[in-house]
Amino acid sequence: MLPDKERVREVFSLEGQLAIVTGGGTGLGFAMASCFSASGARVVITGRRAEVLETAAQTLGGDVFAEQYDVTDFGAAPGFIAHVEERYGAPTILVNNAGIHVKKTVEDHTLDDFHKILATHVEGAFALTRAAVPALKRRGGGSIVFIASMSSILGLPQVVAYSAAKSAYLGMVRSMAAELGASNIRVNAIAPGWIETPMLHKALDGDPKRRQKILDRTPEQRFGSPEDIGWAAVYLCSPAASFINGVVLPVDGGASIGF
Ligand code: NDP
Repeated sequence: MLPDKERVREVFSLEGQLAIVTGGGTGLGFAMASCFSASGARVVITGRRAEVLETAAQTLGGDVFAEQYDVTDFGAAPGFIAHVEERYGAPTILVNNAGIHVKKTVEDHTLDDFHKILATHVEGAFALTRAAVPALKRRGGGSIVFIASMSSILGLPQVVAYSAAKSAYLGMVRSMAAELGASNIRVNAIAPGWIETPMLHKALDGDPKRRQKILDRTPEQRFGSPEDIGWAAVYLCSPAASFINGVVLPVDGGASIGF
């Protein structure tokens, strides 16, 4: 049978799903939570700052819930997932989005910088994913998304630790996609290009040359909007993407292929 409008609504909908978005109180996480909610999902947003989360949840409305959780509190991950399951039900979507950024030369990066970046992005995402997988299995499957970066793909100067962390995501995605596909769990990454958020401003303010270089290599000649990432995440988690597993999707206006 050919698809009709009803089928289109169905395959792009997240109705009945429960998503956890780490770092969901701000920036890209907030945009993903808002697009998930508009697509019918209930969403738990997490982060370290309770007041930021509460404000975000109030802004986004009744199906978005604030839960304080620090991804570097690795041992707390199973308890956090149990708490979510008890309060809202078992999740079907996990977005590993929480992140921090350090921009320094190789010589100026300290080992402490390096450890902190890896702890937040790599170990934090691993600990939570590991704890969430049994819950996703209890729901008959689901979708895990890692928010990677252009630094997963390109050689960007002055972000050695961040690049190491975001490149690690790609290996984790491939390994888990290969392992969890049989449990109906898909694992993918989004590699956002340069998107207008406070983190972008922190990285580019005071560096007009870098800003211009990015725009010059982006065929669309603009920075992205957080919503561009939100809709890509909705797609990857929707039934429309049910045969997409283990990929990294650049959402970058063509920056990663620009000449
Ligand atoms: P933000 O700084 O707005 O978001 C980062 C979020 O992560 C915050 O909500 C923060 O909340 C949360 N967070 C940081 N550390 C922890 C922690 N230990 N535990 C729990 N939550 C934490 O920046 P963006 O929205 O730009 O970044 C979101 C993700 O997108 C990051 O992984 C970033 O690397 C990635 N990215 C961003 C790009 C861009 O252009 N903006 C491009 C490519 C990738 P709190 O401080 O309250 O804990």
